[in-house]
Amino acid sequence: MPGNPNEIKLVNNAMANATRRKIMNFLNEGDRTVEEIGAAAGKTMLDFHLKLLQQAGLIELKGDTASLSEYGRNFLKGKEENEQGKGADLSQAKPIEITEVRQLLPCIADSSKFRTIANMAPPPGGVLKVLEPIFPRGRYSDGIGALIIQQNEVITTIYGTGKVTITMIKSEEEARSRLENLKNTINEAIAKGVAPAPREKVRVEPLEIYKYLPQTNCGICGEQSCYTFAIKLMGGETSLDKCTPLKEPKYAINLEHLQVLSAYI
Ligand code: SF4
Repeated sequence: MPGNPNEIKLVNNAMANATRRKIMNFLNEGDRTVEEIGAAAGKTMLDFHLKLLQQAGLIELKGDTASLSEYGRNFLKGKEENEQGKGADLSQAKPIEITEVRQLLPCIADSSKFRTIANMAPPPGGVLKVLEPIFPRGRYSDGIGALIIQQNEVITTIYGTGKVTITMIKSEEEARSRLENLKNTINEAIAKGVAPAPREKVRVEPLEIYKYLPQTNCGICGEQSCYTFAIKLMGGETSLDKCTPLKEPKYAINLEHLQVLSAYI
């Protein structure tokens, strides 16, 4: 199930193509044979499109039949609710509960820390977009239908489907405490029944950017040092993708942080 930046990228890539979106919508009506999909969405590069959707975890292929995976179904449902939720206030929203803390896995970037997956109910759907301003460093991503919140080292991602992931936590106790705080913050906003006022821009300092860069001063980005890169990034003179070392798996969490911070530059 997509959660980390690489997996999210696979989903974004898969859904960026009109034929693949057409296939997803077609499968939303029920399981179909590859031949039926070809007749509805076109046969050109059909195997390639199906493979990409399968790799992104959106569909399942069994023999000659394709069907939406559970994640694929929830993804489409979340997107639909997001569309409906555009411009909505919170008057119709229901208080949420954390129904399940499913897994506690070691973090890819730091094996002394954990990543947890939980569920909230009812699924917040498009309400998440309205909730964005209550989190000082929260960013709603239309691409994945999720609200991404940064609090120091910890990144919390709440999906419209109700899935919640939290990275870089120290223990299950911390995970439960963060989930409880999250629930209370969201429910307080829902109890008020109106969309929170747009937040003030949170200032990002070059040192904060620098903290999450590889700090190797390798020069691949064309800058003399990582700190120079941080300053230029702040000034809009370079872009995050120029630091290619960040694509290495060991920097996955750093990249996630930098992507959130970039929204505030
Ligand atoms: S490519 Fe990245 S790691 Fe290398 S100097 Fe530039 S910012 Fe630093």
